Amino acid sequence: MDLLFLIGMVYAISRTIRGIMGGSRKGANGRRRSGQKSTANATQGRTARDPVCGMFVSTEVSHRLVENGQVVHFCSKNCMESYEKQKARA
Ligand SMILES: [Zn+2]
Repeated sequence: MDLLFLIGMVYAISRTIRGIMGGSRKGANGRRRSGQKSTANATQGRTARDPVCGMFVSTEVSHRLVENGQVVHFCSKNCMESYEKQKARA
């Protein structure tokens, strides 16, 4: 589980960097400065981090996938499918 999470993180970060370089300013100010140290706890709030693209999505409108008893949130069905493909390969 930890390794999979790490892979997801690296993938999300590289996606985010590519997004910034691509000129997309959307989400540039989306980071919170509440001193939250663990990103793993993000899923407990009203927003959750999409492990595929790194976007924060509202848990009310997210696409959900239950994995090992944990709910994983995605911004879109597309990201959810990418995640499942990634998981199948790992
Ligand atoms: Zn996404």
